[in-house]
Amino acid sequence: IKASVMDGDKFADEHAELREMSMAQSAFEKLQEERKSLPMYRYRDELLDAIEKYQVLVIVGETGSGKTTQIPQYLHEAGYTKRGKVGCTQPRRVAAMSVAARVSQEMGVKLGHEVGYSIRFEDCTSDKTVLKYMTDGMLLREFLGEPDLASYSVVMVDEAHERTLSTDILFGLVKDIARFRPDLKLLISSATLDAEKFSDYFDSAPIFKIPGRRYPVEIHYTKAPEADYLDAAIVTALQIHVTQSPGDILVFLTGQEEIETAEEIMKHRIRGLGTKIAELIICPIYANLPTELQAKIFEPTPEGARKVVLATNIAETSLTIDGIKYVIDPGFCKMKSYNPRTGMESLLVTPISKASANQRAGRSGRTGPGKCFRLYTAYNYYNDLDDNTVPEIQRTNLANVVLMLKSLGIHDLLHFDFMDPPPSEALLKALELLFALSALNKLGELTKVGRRMAEFPLDPMLSKMIVASEKYKCSDDIISIAAMLNIGNSIFYRPKDKQVHADNARMNFHAGNVGDHIALLKVYSSWKETNYSTQWCYENYIQVRSMKRARDIRDQLEGLLERVEIELISNPNDLEAIKKSITSGFFPHSARLQKNGSYRTVKHPQTVHIHPSSGLAQVLPRWVVYHELVLTSKEYMRQVTELKPEWLVEIAPHYYQLKDVEDSSTKKMPRGQGRAS
Ligand code: ADP
Ligand code: MG
Repeated sequence: IKASVMDGDKFADEHAELREMSMAQSAFEKLQEERKSLPMYRYRDELLDAIEKYQVLVIVGETGSGKTTQIPQYLHEAGYTKRGKVGCTQPRRVAAMSVAARVSQEMGVKLGHEVGYSIRFEDCTSDKTVLKYMTDGMLLREFLGEPDLASYSVVMVDEAHERTLSTDILFGLVKDIARFRPDLKLLISSATLDAEKFSDYFDSAPIFKIPGRRYPVEIHYTKAPEADYLDAAIVTALQIHVTQSPGDILVFLTGQEEIETAEEIMKHRIRGLGTKIAELIICPIYANLPTELQAKIFEPTPEGARKVVLATNIAETSLTIDGIKYVIDPGFCKMKSYNPRTGMESLLVTPISKASANQRAGRSGRTGPGKCFRLYTAYNYYNDLDDNTVPEIQRTNLANVVLMLKSLGIHDLLHFDFMDPPPSEALLKALELLFALSALNKLGELTKVGRRMAEFPLDPMLSKMIVASEKYKCSDDIISIAAMLNIGNSIFYRPKDKQVHADNARMNFHAGNVGDHIALLKVYSSWKETNYSTQWCYENYIQVRSMKRARDIRDQLEGLLERVEIELISNPNDLEAIKKSITSGFFPHSARLQKNGSYRTVKHPQTVHIHPSSGLAQVLPRWVVYHELVLTSKEYMRQVTELKPEWLVEIAPHYYQLKDVEDSSTKKMPRGQGRAS
């Protein structure tokens, strides 16, 4: 009996296995069917012919037609990968990851094997990888190690219409190497119609157009401007859910915080709608969404339910979610803006362009007629929105790319082959900053410090802070701080019902008013001491996921320290050494307290405030150095540490003179404020 039971079990097991295999088989077949149904598929052979024939090809096709997922596979099937990798760049990390995941499924291989992705601080590729999706910034970095991209047979600069800074710089570099690497194929793909411009730039490269299918989209405007677009978006989404026929909803919001707020409010209001209403599944998607949750937005909506996707600009062209029938467009996105005069950069919620608005609307008409609800007036649309978004290169700090180009041996930046040149003021400002950071000498040549800085995939001020930590013998502590700064503001969380507890836990790390940087270090070291305990994170209202990511980044920074031959030394009790390292990188970001409790930046005087989330918000030290500025209701400094003004002159004598830091108001300050540690 025993034997037959065992056999029976074995039979059942085998049966299950077979069933699983045939299910996997049919899922795989279904994917193949889906591939064939994409608009791209009909043009497969024609496209491959054109690629064979021309070295550079501009490819234009409606979003969702299959450019990103299919073209690299076609190239693989046609044998291009025998000669080298096919690289495909994406402006956004989530897109690189999610598309790579999709393509690995379509090819029936494990992600990271034949199909992989590479984004900053995360390399999911192997020796086997032949289709490599990556952020445009990562390909840019690859030039440092492989200036002719010898390991690639094809480079596809995808989402070219996004015109990110890295994409624009890539254009110049790939155009250059294509000249002496006739075997390298170059594809420039774009979702919109500025194809002529790309073609002109690439010496009249031919344009391959993939006719898209697009159903009519009904556009609705509001009668009057909305005072609170977030609330209006939520109300509209719920109205659609209650009154409109089946079909998923896509809402464009500006960032993670806004999306999280919207999600919370929506959940709350849905509960208020009672049980007769169909299920509404809320799917957030933004750059830092943990990988496990990213797949959720692509899962088919169950029968009878409706999905509402709360997305940043990422869903405008980078990701296509099938089944969207309604789009809600509040008309804003978060955009970097840069003032070349002061060298200050901030992230601002800005009205989108007409081109963006039309892309957004188009997302609702992919699989059938759609509707787009614009939460602004028709007058607004026609009269206030710009036609196109200004390319990032014209509104950003260029220090990073200038350092990169200098490291690649490109000295004459004014004559670099830019598609749209940056303002020369911004270029000069970048050179000035790099000179101030000692990355360049007076002749504009890369110094040893600069060469070391360029090894770090970080903003120059952060890299300088790390390189300077050698001198102050605290490299170990500084890379922890750098890693934590990279995580941004998603370290602490504050549940609504436990805000007091959460705030108390947070303030523990600020004991002694050490400043935000050192508080971050304390969070990291305390976590490390608990052997990276999850429980500890819960108890301290800290996001485990963010901490794990910080640990990953830190590990990589440790590897890079070794590469630039900086010894790993920990010196956590010498706060002055740590603060001086921070100041060595961030001295251009120094500010002095005013009588009214606001601050003035030292170099290009501007009024700023300490962000309320800072541990120093109530302390108001006389002199501070900050990590970044964020503009919300006011211009806020985020991540702030106290400094002594004489450090500025000591650390950056070529940037600050004594007169800049003379403290005339010393005696008027109330006691207890502005205590230097
Ligand atoms: P394009 O690059 O032309 O905008 P894509 O190649 O990104 O088009 O998309 C083609 C199809 O693949 C779309 O129907 C899209 O929904 C689907 N797709 C892309 N990525 C994923 C994913 N991660 N999961 C499921 N489907 C995906
Ligand atoms: Mg694409």
